[in-house]
Amino acid sequence: MSPFNDTKIAFQDKSTTQLKKAYWMFKAIENPTLTNLGINVLNFTIKNDVPFVESIVKKTLFEQFAGGETRERSAQVVNQMFTHHIGSIFDYAIEGKEDEATFDQTCQEIKRNIEFAKGNPAVPFVVFKPTGFGRLELYSTIQAKGQLTSSETKEWERVVKRYEEVCALAFELDVVLMVDAEETQMQDAVDALVNRMMAQYNKKRAIIWNTVQMYRTGRLEYLENDLKLAQELDYYIGYKFVRGAYMEKERERAEALGLADPIQPTKQATDDNYNAAIGFVIAHLDRISGYFGTHNEKSTELIMDRMKSEGLENGHPNIYFGQLYGMSDNITYYLGENKYNASKYLPYGPVKDVVPYLTRRAQENTSVAGQTGRELGLIERELKRRRF
Ligand SMILES: Cc1cc2nc3c(=O)[nH]c(=O)nc-3n(C[C@H](O)[C@H](O)[C@H](O)COP(=O)(O)OP(=O)(O)OC[C@H]3O[C@@H](n4cnc5c(N)ncnc54)[C@H](O)[C@@H]3O)c2cc1C
Repeated sequence: MSPFNDTKIAFQDKSTTQLKKAYWMFKAIENPTLTNLGINVLNFTIKNDVPFVESIVKKTLFEQFAGGETRERSAQVVNQMFTHHIGSIFDYAIEGKEDEATFDQTCQEIKRNIEFAKGNPAVPFVVFKPTGFGRLELYSTIQAKGQLTSSETKEWERVVKRYEEVCALAFELDVVLMVDAEETQMQDAVDALVNRMMAQYNKKRAIIWNTVQMYRTGRLEYLENDLKLAQELDYYIGYKFVRGAYMEKERERAEALGLADPIQPTKQATDDNYNAAIGFVIAHLDRISGYFGTHNEKSTELIMDRMKSEGLENGHPNIYFGQLYGMSDNITYYLGENKYNASKYLPYGPVKDVVPYLTRRAQENTSVAGQTGRELGLIERELKRRRF
């Protein structure tokens, strides 16, 4: 039987009213037509400041999937989760803005997050998204070794400077900093930059971490190369392992450009690749740390089993687990209860700016097979348990 079935543990931080609200929200999200319609209406009304929409979003999607409007206002959620041995990873959830002022502001925000996390066990990592620091098209041009104009050259220098500044601060304050992964067309450029930071700052331990998407082909070979490099140059490496969030977009792009599909051919192939990465980390713990960002119960159980068979303590300092706030509490709270290094990505930001993140969550819950059904089943069971 799955260890993640105890709904009393899973929902101990949620009131019955909150659970009922979550139930109706997942029920609505379950319907793809309704979700897509809702998203269009929401985007339009938020953009046009239609009265009451923001407060409705705040009491529904935002409350379910985000911590608060600021880092400080998310503190209650952070403290509450930490009482259950669950760390919070602030996710500055502003997406889709591509101007220099926003990039600078995001860089400042990440620095404040690093300062907040200093010596704070409730906040074990700080993260940022590459497109929070620079334009997707610019990364893509760098990756394709395209010709940059002189203004683009300066623009790229500013992107690199933002990476350098946050990595230097993370090193100085001894805070682990993790970089999210995005689209394949830009990922080589990000990897090269993050690898340079790892070689510079990870001489004593993994302070700078990258993310590897195991739905991509060739990622195990990529990891082997990184490991070889780290061994040769003597530094430590840390990775967040995810399956990957951009599958439809990746496939559409590859098809439109007549390129090879960068994604594994089937879900099973992605699962096998992900689980192979688990083995890879456990076999090289002298050099690698792994953060497993997944809602997949089988993969999570596999990590726990491998740790047990290798005689590793549950709270092994090189192995972390993470789920998104508002999803898969049954996994996170079980892990916390059993003193694994459990954590949640905790999005925050002004309601209006977080809407693209929230609609992505809604869409993902519609498209990731089984996720909504799983959430609904768990909530239903817990509500029934509380009634009796
Ligand atoms: C803490 C955390 C951090 C994250 N950070 C990132 C990040 O930085 N970058 C990023 O891209 N994503 C990130 N994600 C999202 C992640 O990549 C997945 O999209 C999401 O978690 C669903 O995958 P799963 O492992 O939870 O479980 P599952 O539900 O078992 O897997 C679903 C995933 O399998 C893959 N898949 C589905 N169908 C197929 C198919 N037909 N062929 C091939 N593969 C298929 C897709 O990747 C899909 O998302 C993060 C997730 C978490 C929990």
